[in-house]
Amino acid sequence: MLILKNVDIFYSRVHAVRRVSLHVNQGEIVALIGGNGAGKTTLLTTISGLLRSSGGSLHFDGQDITRLRPEHIVAAGISQVPERRLVFKPMSVEDNLLLGAYQRRGLKMRNQIQQEIRQVYEMFPVLGQRRKQSAGTLSGGEQQMLAIGRALMAKPRMLLLDEPGMGLAPALSQMIFRHVVELRDAFGLTVLLVEQNAKCALRIANRGYVMETGRIILQGSSEELQLNRDVQRAYLGREVEQQ
Ligand code: ATP
Repeated sequence: MLILKNVDIFYSRVHAVRRVSLHVNQGEIVALIGGNGAGKTTLLTTISGLLRSSGGSLHFDGQDITRLRPEHIVAAGISQVPERRLVFKPMSVEDNLLLGAYQRRGLKMRNQIQQEIRQVYEMFPVLGQRRKQSAGTLSGGEQQMLAIGRALMAKPRMLLLDEPGMGLAPALSQMIFRHVVELRDAFGLTVLLVEQNAKCALRIANRGYVMETGRIILQGSSEELQLNRDVQRAYLGREVEQQ
């Protein structure tokens, strides 16, 4: 569904992503793991069109999205949940959700959009209880739910999730990960998941890629990566016996 080929991304002279190729099949959760500064967020932000690659190509559902503007990438069916959630704090929960459907405004979709807001509240009941409350007063976990709900309001076929577990208590981040699985299983969503918490990410993903200093250094099924000694040592916090 998503195919990246030899993608290069620069910030002025900083070569943040180096000839990265990866793909995500329809209905998969694919984890992109790696340490600080590996280039994970840069890659996601380029897929959503907010950054431009300077080499290589990006295709989504057969369409070349390499040079598409962000709003056209959203319209094509890709929605990003940004790192640190970035909800609109002074606005109410419900207005944040409505903004997620901004592209579909004026399309005589009012009833449809209200119905979708109700579905978000069914998935995250706490958001329904706080619908009039300003988003900035929500807890970190609730803001993460809102950021996911807002992304869903664009009716995506693919979600790009940037560190959804960041800064959350373990039980809360488990709950967010369970919802990600539910989005794949119940709604057929395809997910590219960036996570520093490799253990949680590989537990729910079908496949994964490991990124270091701008490059993909390893790829495989979640089982293969979980059994890989380098991954265990570097990302799963396991002591590996010397051979
Ligand atoms: P983390 O897990 O810490 O968020 P990451 O894997 O998402 O890390 P990126 O944020 O994509 O990594 O950063 C990749 C590289 O690009 C880093 O060396 C970073 O310093 C650099 N970088 C990121 N944003 C900018 C920017 N706006 N200007 C210049 N360099 C940047």
